[in-house]
Amino acid sequence: MNQNDNVVIIGGGPAGSALGCYLSKAGIKNTIFESAIHPREHVGESMVMSSVRVFDEIGFLPVMEREGFVRKYGASWHPPVAKGEADIAFHEFPQADINQDYTYHVDRKKFDLLLLKHAESLGSKIYQGVQVTEVLFDEDKFASGIRVKLAGQEVEIPARMVVDASGRSTLLGKQLKVKKNDPVFDQFAVHAWFENVDKSQVDSSEYIHIYFLPVERGWAWQIPITHEITSMGIVAEKEVFRTGKMTPEQYFNKYVASNPDLAHAMRDARRVNEFKMEGDYSYQMETFAGNGFVMIGDAARFVDPIFSSGVSVALYSAKYSSDRIIEAFKTGDFSEAALKPYEQKLRAGTAIWYEFIRLYYKLLPLFTHFIKSKEHRVEVLRLLQGEVFDRKEVPVLDAMRKFIKVVETTPGHMFAGQLSSIPID
Ligand SMILES: Cc1cc2nc3c(=O)[nH]c(=O)nc-3n(C[C@H](O)[C@H](O)[C@H](O)COP(=O)(O)OP(=O)(O)OC[C@H]3O[C@@H](n4cnc5c(N)ncnc54)[C@H](O)[C@@H]3O)c2cc1C
Repeated sequence: MNQNDNVVIIGGGPAGSALGCYLSKAGIKNTIFESAIHPREHVGESMVMSSVRVFDEIGFLPVMEREGFVRKYGASWHPPVAKGEADIAFHEFPQADINQDYTYHVDRKKFDLLLLKHAESLGSKIYQGVQVTEVLFDEDKFASGIRVKLAGQEVEIPARMVVDASGRSTLLGKQLKVKKNDPVFDQFAVHAWFENVDKSQVDSSEYIHIYFLPVERGWAWQIPITHEITSMGIVAEKEVFRTGKMTPEQYFNKYVASNPDLAHAMRDARRVNEFKMEGDYSYQMETFAGNGFVMIGDAARFVDPIFSSGVSVALYSAKYSSDRIIEAFKTGDFSEAALKPYEQKLRAGTAIWYEFIRLYYKLLPLFTHFIKSKEHRVEVLRLLQGEVFDRKEVPVLDAMRKFIKVVETTPGHMFAGQLSSIPID
């Protein structure tokens, strides 16, 4: 029997740091090993409302306010070829236990460092610049520690439990060979920061702006990082990039020019950092919890980022896994069966995100139609705010499916030409 009382967390991104906070608050010793040295750059700069609840629970909300991150009051979508926008404001759907009508856009260098420091202030031990190379298992096949690279040496560190929060590196998923790429989504993003993006055409400069692009599963993001700097990203199927035979910059510029509102916003913009690329980012692990281990955040599951869900999923996976870990320390049962309820909860929540995203890509005008409709607007808004956990039913997704069926089976339907090839059954 493993007598060690420490939880080892691999990765000090939002998932790992938030888990450190929850565990320390419960009096459980934990150590975070982070391969980078913060501050380090990261994609994923715009948050959904539900993140605020977790910040509040772990005592991090005053830090977010003190640091003056740009407040995010809503979101706005721009059609692919015509001008104009459809938007939502978060105050339309107040959420339980959230006492503000905005969330945040963040510079992830600053945000991730602050959250890691917050975890440290609550009691997590932090080692930065230390790469974990393997999760160790004992003769009973329970995770029993990690192997790290330290000053050129391989060192073994024992643990009562191991948590993989290594993000898209998916250390444990790869080690256990349980990583499954998404059968539908295979997207590619090019992004950079710009000055002088023109936000005057929209009266909502503190919103995230999403521009539909006239290409399969193509869209662009506009996220205000400060009042001067804006993060801009272009996303499309990887195949579009591959067959286009363009440099990342040419690809970026081509699609900026393809949407009238986006081209207008970018006409005098100046790039202030290098273009970065992201690929291969939709997948899930066959298991998120086993004997003595759990996987959280991107290390467990990653769904397409169209609705800015990633950081919220990372934070809630930390919250829900901490419930099971705290219980395991009480009962002494660290088995897969004891930890599995965490996996079920996270899977159910991310499945709702995934279904919403799939239906969105199946028929883009459906989304705009639904957020403009009196009947469905609030329910769509609820999803967009990240209210996906602990839900037995999501009637608005059924309504979307029905609507798509009608479009598919009605000859000459005005939206018929806009159905994509995504399977939804
Ligand atoms: C194109 C794109 C756009 C996105 N846009 C958004 C958005 O607008 N909003 C949003 O909420 N999310 C967005 N995301 C998702 C978001 O980036 C992630 O969901 C979020 O960062 C997950 O947090 P995490 O803590 O799980 O992983 P990470 O933030 O990746 O943190 C993992 C940490 O583990 C460390 N690590 C990795 N391997 C090891 C190792 N072997 N040993 C030790 N440490 C290790 C890494 O250095 C890293 O610091 C986007 C993602 C993509 C690809």
